[in-house]
Amino acid sequence: MTEGQLLGGRYRLERLLGEGGMGQVWQARDEALARPVAVKVISLLAGGGTRGDEARARFLREARITAGLQHANIVTVHDLGESGEGENRVPFLVMELVRGEGLDAVLRRGAVAPALVAQWSAEICDALAAAHEAGIMHRDIKPSNVLVTPSGSVKVLDFGVARAADPSATGDRLTRTGFIVGTPPYMAPEQARGFPEPASDLYAVGCLIFELLTGRLPFQAPDTVGYLTAHLTEEPPAPGSVAAGIPAAWDDLVLTLLRKEPARRYPDAGALARALRHPDLTPGSTIPATTAEAGRTSTAPTGEAVKRFGLPAVLLVATLIAFPDPAWLTYAGSGFRYISLTLMAALLGCASALTPRAGNLLRTTGYVTALLNAANVWFLVLGIDAGRWTNDSVWAYGTVVALALATYAHRDVTTRRAVTVAS
Ligand code: ATP
Ligand code: MG
Repeated sequence: MTEGQLLGGRYRLERLLGEGGMGQVWQARDEALARPVAVKVISLLAGGGTRGDEARARFLREARITAGLQHANIVTVHDLGESGEGENRVPFLVMELVRGEGLDAVLRRGAVAPALVAQWSAEICDALAAAHEAGIMHRDIKPSNVLVTPSGSVKVLDFGVARAADPSATGDRLTRTGFIVGTPPYMAPEQARGFPEPASDLYAVGCLIFELLTGRLPFQAPDTVGYLTAHLTEEPPAPGSVAAGIPAAWDDLVLTLLRKEPARRYPDAGALARALRHPDLTPGSTIPATTAEAGRTSTAPTGEAVKRFGLPAVLLVATLIAFPDPAWLTYAGSGFRYISLTLMAALLGCASALTPRAGNLLRTTGYVTALLNAANVWFLVLGIDAGRWTNDSVWAYGTVVALALATYAHRDVTTRRAVTVAS
């Protein structure tokens, strides 16, 4: 696959987003609907011959079933297709393009605060509950298959794709050997034996929670056989025994999920989602665990409050100082100053209101206000109303506006990342 290539007569590949075990994922443009999409090209199933055709047909059949899943925490599948001819035929899957980052990228920065782990894993379980209800198992829950959106909620990817692409699923085999459905570090013992069930997804969630809380996997092994042996025979450590600062209630929850016998884990994904929303998992969290901000607040309440409210307050005071006339508010002839102060207060208000869960409306309002503030300085420089001003106050005001703009932009960027490293 190359940049600029057109798949299925309508999806123009724009940028390679990543590459996994089955093929590549591209950011693409749906030229028919003029919207961005993500296209997963399953090169594992490329090639000709009857067996290749059968495998692709099975993939399309299975993928069609999983495409029926509609849930706020499951990535929407828009379309399925095949590209190329003969030996070059490759199936592809067109999905909603999710902005944000995968939990694999999040984990590269280290462990995650318990409040965020609780929120994200509860949403993963909501997605699993809906899928299990529809008779679909995920089979490959792992960090790269979970994306965190800029608003702080999660989207689960690749539902059932592992099975759909599994050459052994209906007994026929492609030439590839050693293909395992699922990913060894997260694979439940029964799945490793070849008999996955819905509880296997819960086991994988247990491994994922362990990794998010501690920054490492429950079992560490040099290769696939090592991982599978560990899942089958070794007792996992409690997360609290490998990392500090994890509330005690997590140990029970994670060790229950990592039980070897599927029947002894949580009864189903819905029950696990409820357990993950229990306040014992996030003691001392002043903001409910459903906000992505909770993690930050529980680890560094003072620092966060200073960043959110302290700096904007200082800049507001600086704006007042930049206006030398103490009667600025009541001074009828100085409407310009009144507008300036209102615009500055609005921009700083938006900066303080930004949290990782802030929506696009607030973010856009902030940038519009930022533009208006910049325009305001520009009018001043042009000389409108400048008769009443000294050059010094124009400079002082211009500097304060520049600082406020920088503060807003910085806060926008940092809250979009929405992730914190556990202290
Ligand atoms: P596997 O093939 O086992 O699923 P993987 O999950 O690492 O392995 P892919 O599923 O191919 O690899 O995904 C590659 C990258 O593309 C991942 O980093 C994933 O986060 C990203 N990605 C996948 N689907 C989307 C999407 N709909 N929107 C945005 N990014 C996506
Ligand atoms: Mg994936």
